[in-house]
Amino acid sequence: MKLQVSNTNTPVWRDITIKSDLPSQLKPLEIMSRNLWWVWNSEGKSLFRDLNPDLWRSVGENPVMLLQRLGFDRVQEIINDSSLLARINSVYEKFQEYISKPMRKDIPSVSYFSMEYGLCNALKIYSGGLGVLAGDYIKEASDSCVDMTAVGFLYRYGYFTQTLSMDGQQIANYEAQNFNELPIEQVTDENGQPMILEVPFPNHVVYSHVWRVNVGRMKLYLMDTDFDKNSEYDRQITHQLYGGDWENRIKQEYMLGIGGILMLQKLGIESDLYHCNEGHAALLNLQRLVDYVQNRNLDFQTALEIVRASSLYTVHTPVPAGHDYFDEGLFGKYMGKFPEKLGISWAELMNMGRENPNSDERFSMSVFALNTCQEANGVSWLHGEVSKKMFSGIWKGYNWKESHVGYVTNGVHMPTWASSEWKALYEKTFGEEFFLHQSETDYWNKIYSVPDEEIWNLRMTMKNKFINFVRRDFREKWLKNQGDPSRIMSILDKINPNALIIGFARRFATYKRAHLLFSDLDRLAAIVNNPQFPVQFIFSGKAHPADGAGQGLIKRITEISRMPQFLGKIIFLENYDMIVAKRLVSGVDIWLNTPTRPLEASGTSGEKAEMNGVLNFSVLDGWWYEGYKFCEKAGWALTDKRTFTDQAQQDKLDAATIYSMLENQIIPLYFAKNSKGYSPEWIEYIKNSVAKIAPNFTMKRMIDDYIERFYSKEAKRTALLKADNFKLAREIVAWKENVAAHWDGVKVVSIDETPLHNNAKTGDMFNITIKVNTNGLKASDLGLECVIYRTENGQEDLTEVLPFKEKSVDGDIVTYELKTELRESGVFRYAYRLYPKNSALPHRQDFAFVRWL
Ligand SMILES: *Cc1c(COP(=O)(O)O)cnc(C)c1O
Repeated sequence: MKLQVSNTNTPVWRDITIKSDLPSQLKPLEIMSRNLWWVWNSEGKSLFRDLNPDLWRSVGENPVMLLQRLGFDRVQEIINDSSLLARINSVYEKFQEYISKPMRKDIPSVSYFSMEYGLCNALKIYSGGLGVLAGDYIKEASDSCVDMTAVGFLYRYGYFTQTLSMDGQQIANYEAQNFNELPIEQVTDENGQPMILEVPFPNHVVYSHVWRVNVGRMKLYLMDTDFDKNSEYDRQITHQLYGGDWENRIKQEYMLGIGGILMLQKLGIESDLYHCNEGHAALLNLQRLVDYVQNRNLDFQTALEIVRASSLYTVHTPVPAGHDYFDEGLFGKYMGKFPEKLGISWAELMNMGRENPNSDERFSMSVFALNTCQEANGVSWLHGEVSKKMFSGIWKGYNWKESHVGYVTNGVHMPTWASSEWKALYEKTFGEEFFLHQSETDYWNKIYSVPDEEIWNLRMTMKNKFINFVRRDFREKWLKNQGDPSRIMSILDKINPNALIIGFARRFATYKRAHLLFSDLDRLAAIVNNPQFPVQFIFSGKAHPADGAGQGLIKRITEISRMPQFLGKIIFLENYDMIVAKRLVSGVDIWLNTPTRPLEASGTSGEKAEMNGVLNFSVLDGWWYEGYKFCEKAGWALTDKRTFTDQAQQDKLDAATIYSMLENQIIPLYFAKNSKGYSPEWIEYIKNSVAKIAPNFTMKRMIDDYIERFYSKEAKRTALLKADNFKLAREIVAWKENVAAHWDGVKVVSIDETPLHNNAKTGDMFNITIKVNTNGLKASDLGLECVIYRTENGQEDLTEVLPFKEKSVDGDIVTYELKTELRESGVFRYAYRLYPKNSALPHRQDFAFVRWL
């Protein structure tokens, strides 16, 4: 018989997951692994890392996975290591002390809704700046003991991880996450079973699991529809962040807003205020309206008064195209039953989402947010101005400058983004209590007492750490995807701590103009190849999978980075995430940002750089428009003056400016080294930026601004409206209804004004008397004012609004008078504006009836 070489059937694999069973001595680790406190606590973080540094890296800094995979031998080692055990207990004590501090009762409680949260790398529920901001915010809420509850989604696939193909094409990988390995806890019902939230959709119920993320003292609740009680179709609702079609998007936003409120109710959480982080979550107010109407027996208008008074909308997008709009048909498919629940018509609901009511506009989530939130804000001073203009069409009787839309400039959570080395320096120099007073400049001023050499050495430590990180983490990746090992080794060798290293990392949206630097390759080659003054650029960032132009840009940069003259001088790091971000913002010398103004609403990565002694070189947009002005010799700015209307021309000019500022100012400054090997002037810049700029962009400052500008004010007014069984709210509604019923019949009886025409001179008196028939309204219900615009070069600019005095009342006839001296010369237009007046209203946009006389 001829023997076969082999004879095998297919293997029968049996699955088994063996988790480390941690002995009781290590229970503190297990408890701490389910709270993200370690993310911003250096001791906590290094404790987990030191249990097994390689494993810590390979599990993506996820403490739950780390503990599950420690292995029997390592666990035995740890419990026999008395000094390590003592360290565990000491960190645990600090953790306990931290979380046992109670929330403040003197400020309002808040529910915060966001599509994404960037808390740590292990939780892939963020895509970029908006998420990281939300994550930083709730961390600060924890530090500042603000009683906040956050609502969001646990995505099965999260945002994609990025790899690059051989030719620089972005490949988006969506990896399913195993929720049992994440630093979260599933919320259970009274029987210890997974809690199931039921969210009524138009014709069926969508079920959701609820997961809790412990963020220090804060709780973030995440909904997850990906389990077998739902249809395949509904399971996808929480699959991807910003994935799927418009129908999936409306289902997500329905789930976030409406499901989110129902979830809070099921959890027994009721807050004073509701904060909508971007328009995605605005439907939360629809559910709140339903609850007031159905459970509290309020009519729709009274419910709206309460809901409006107690909510805040933060807009992050500077252009209308960035907002969500839904076609009426699609919107109706999901929202069709709501008018009936609220006692309003379908048209009335649609109109709440339209800039022009009764038009055929699609339903805009931001317009709806503005109509159901008393207050709204942009995320930097400049973006506040842009938002006022962007939304001015909603309140047509008022100029954009009169808009109530405010701003709070974004900040960053310093304990998360400052490296542990810098935090140690801050603590040593500023004192331990400094962390509670981060936004006070006095503390930061002490940076001037630190010897220059110490700052320089710290910077070099961070640069070397960054370079080691690149050598270690990217070597394998590059060998796998980019071929040619000798080229890769040569790139890794070329990264030079003595070079001026410039970082550019962000989403690759075209407005961020990552291409600017590459407009003149010869000039750029000369800059990076100067043997005396070496300069290197590090790029990183993801493009949205649907953004072809953004992906093209990444491809182009990779191509350039492989040209011989740029090899090792221009480096692209794949998969920009929070780990890469933290290394970059602390490991480079300069943070470069070149957006098209005013499209960067705020930007926060440059603020992270500030916390690490890294200097900003940026377009005067977003936060830097404010930051740059705090101090001279603390960074560099590309001017805010626009020379060309044509964007391509402007880009060219901006690029030339970048080159010349690098060549003539920045590079010479960095390399003006003294005998000790560093540039004293560079250190002066670092100290200035730490002392004068950094304190203004902490999350502590940001949360304090929100409390002061919005939360306290809104909570106070809400309490007034609700008191005595909603007495004031009902009165306001009755008043508004009365005004509305009489408004169209209000008439001008006469207008008498000093004839001015074209012979008016400064110093002249201008007297106006206007008689109005109020059509049954009380004189006190109305206000009259003169609105004055200066007109110049075809531009109109609101210059003044002068109130009239009420001179006499005779039945329905009110006589108003205005006497004013003409103080300024120029060409003006003016008009008389009548409006409903009531001191119980928060601002004019709350009831924007206007009659021009
Ligand atoms: C901070 C951060 C951002 C936001 O940075 P911008 O300056 O707003 O572009 C985006 N992604 C990650 C991973 C971040 O850490």
